[in-house]
Amino acid sequence: MDIPRNEWKLPPEGGHMDKDHQIYLSTMNSKQVKERLEKNDVILIPMGSMENHGQSGPVGQDVFISTRICEMVAQKTGCTLSPPIYYGSHPGYHLGQFLNFPVPDEAFCAYLRAIMTGLWNSYFRKMIFVSLHGQEYSTPVAMQEWYKKYQVPAMIFYVDVPRVMAETLKDTKNGGPFNNPMQHACEAEQSVYGNLAPDMYHPEIAENTDPKGYLPYGHVDRGGDIYMYPIPGHCQVGNCGLEVVNFPEGTVGHAKEADPQKAVPAVNRVADYLVKLHNDILEKFPVGKLPPTREMSQRDSAELEAVMKGVLKGGRHIYTLGWPC
Ligand SMILES: [Zn+2]
Repeated sequence: MDIPRNEWKLPPEGGHMDKDHQIYLSTMNSKQVKERLEKNDVILIPMGSMENHGQSGPVGQDVFISTRICEMVAQKTGCTLSPPIYYGSHPGYHLGQFLNFPVPDEAFCAYLRAIMTGLWNSYFRKMIFVSLHGQEYSTPVAMQEWYKKYQVPAMIFYVDVPRVMAETLKDTKNGGPFNNPMQHACEAEQSVYGNLAPDMYHPEIAENTDPKGYLPYGHVDRGGDIYMYPIPGHCQVGNCGLEVVNFPEGTVGHAKEADPQKAVPAVNRVADYLVKLHNDILEKFPVGKLPPTREMSQRDSAELEAVMKGVLKGGRHIYTLGWPC
């Protein structure tokens, strides 16, 4: 797939979350939102985590990588950003780590379903989850369960940031720019972070640790699951010990080797891709349009028509079809 290149200013002038810039839904009033919905009904939902990232990056680092990329894309395209999903889902080996806050997957998926329902009810019916913290085993479950519950037209996508970055996030032996394979809060991740949020980056106190698993490398994928090893990182239990025991620093890899300049292609790539995804959605289904109702659902047509019209246009709210629990 050809992804058109855009010009990006790096580092971005990020940090719009409490500014009157009409980027985040949370900062907009109802008049502004109604005007936005006339022009653009795509919403990006940045996802990250509250997680120990060692000394060089903050606890909310994954969120800031996602939000800063999404802010760039929103400025370029005119779409809207949801406030980010801070507290998230974690694999079991993250348990107990100082400054990790794992949310049970059932609660996490229920939370995401409630957000999707509210966004749909507010006419943001084209949603793109943008995650730098994986959650690739939980977010799509929430999406599919949401659709099976409501059976209404919508376009909802989950974008796994490292997967899009692909070789631009790999080590030199595998065609990428970094000295070491991606793990966690390591050379590659801290390079990306330092590129996007130098205002909250402290490379002078970065640490190095050496990643290890029990089986030889080649079975279970490395961070970001970009090496296409047979078993993705979240598809195992017991190939590595608890992070709090093996990596109490919170860094898994060589954060001291991070070089934000090396992350420029990775950041450009994911930002370019999100612009393309946004543009392709709106080209195929312009503002207010969705995939054909009769192809998306076999619900009663009068019921569907009422919720599709929604609360601002003489119809009914989506919760009449059920509560998203
Ligand atoms: Zn991270």
